[in-house]
Amino acid sequence: MIVDPYTPVSGDSSYAAVHYDLDLDYKLAGNRLTATATIDIRAREEIRSAAFDLVGLRVSRVKVAGDTRASFRQTDRKVRVTFSTPLAAGDTARIAITYAGAPQPRRTRWGLLGWEELEDGLIVASQPTGAPTWFPCNDLPCEKSTYALRVATDPGYAVVTGATGTRARAGRRDAWSFTIDTPTPSYLLTLQIGPYRETAVDLAGVPGRLFHPAGLENRAAADFALLGDMMSAFAESFGPYPFPQYTIVVTQDDLEIPLEAQGMGIFGSNHIDGAGSLERLVAHELAHQWFGNSVGVEGWQHIWLNEGFACYAEWVWSEASGKATAHGLALAHHARLAALPQDLRVSDPGPDLMFDDRVYTRGALALHALRLTVGDDPFFALLREWTTRHRFGVVTTADFTALAEEQAGAALGSLFAAWLDDTALPDLPKGGKRGARPASITERVGLIDAVFRRDRSRG
Ligand SMILES: [Zn+2]
Repeated sequence: MIVDPYTPVSGDSSYAAVHYDLDLDYKLAGNRLTATATIDIRAREEIRSAAFDLVGLRVSRVKVAGDTRASFRQTDRKVRVTFSTPLAAGDTARIAITYAGAPQPRRTRWGLLGWEELEDGLIVASQPTGAPTWFPCNDLPCEKSTYALRVATDPGYAVVTGATGTRARAGRRDAWSFTIDTPTPSYLLTLQIGPYRETAVDLAGVPGRLFHPAGLENRAAADFALLGDMMSAFAESFGPYPFPQYTIVVTQDDLEIPLEAQGMGIFGSNHIDGAGSLERLVAHELAHQWFGNSVGVEGWQHIWLNEGFACYAEWVWSEASGKATAHGLALAHHARLAALPQDLRVSDPGPDLMFDDRVYTRGALALHALRLTVGDDPFFALLREWTTRHRFGVVTTADFTALAEEQAGAALGSLFAAWLDDTALPDLPKGGKRGARPASITERVGLIDAVFRRDRSRG
């Protein structure tokens, strides 16, 4: 059965993956992984079997607690575990899958995803379907679980996830342990290993950690210097930061785009120049902790709820930090979009266009149109209600439009239809209700210039 039409071979909706206990042993030389994933599931209906996504790794053994006659079958994308007696709806089972191999990124329509070796270390970048390259999982964005992660690996490396870990010596190896208690979908679980230095930073009361290779201290310190101010600005606009900490990893290798993981932003050394040139990307990845990571999507169709909001957060940060106003940026981006093909539905862009820049920008413009319509204070109150009500949950576009109407006490159907469902680009509303200063002509020309020159690099 297809659970998410954007990723038709992923996931199994017949059970919930409640908790993963991942016990990994990894040797960097030869990229050799041996592991056991112990997964607690709960049946959503009567089931005789449960399927887990796993790609490129070989399963040697499956044990189901209390069911010695359970069996398994592996194909190139799935491990299907069959129980000797069916589970009834609500029943739980504990399934231990032992597997090994040399993990590789998988080739997808979105490029190479998942576990990838670096020059010295590794990165996991899974959105949307890379998680099965390193552990068997129910690989759906709506499927949120808790995790325990133990990683034994070569000494001299930092092992980083989106949670604070502990390190112990185990013979000649280092044994790292992490507990991730906040509900996390498989695509946002990450593992980063590298010869990183760690710097602790205070982010407006949120513990922050900066991991970077030796030699990049100054560039990293300069380019992430404003992270605490961003944290304050976003907490004020979007509500309290949802996670116990925030970690930044900068890889020595260049990365195509920065990206978000749970409690973490990942950047390549090419994204930091010590002059803050890509400040908007730092803001973008931080904003994903509210939009995408805490408030997640029920299906990939709703990706604008992640990317449009994170893009709008770039404009919110620009305005809060005294640079271009959100309104000025909206006008400039509107002019840019008007020159591009108008053949994309933000509310359902299709899998090939789900990461298209127009989803990001037009999604942000839809939010700005809403802000112009309802006014500044009601708009930000709505965003805070959104992150509060759906904290750690999953949402659809209909959830957002319903909450917006509920909070505004007004019908907003035609506004949302024009911005999210129609392909033609609407004009921005005139915005009588808001106080933000409209951009001057000079500011607009300058911004349009800057916006037309921008690259499309963001995750
Ligand atoms: Zn993004």
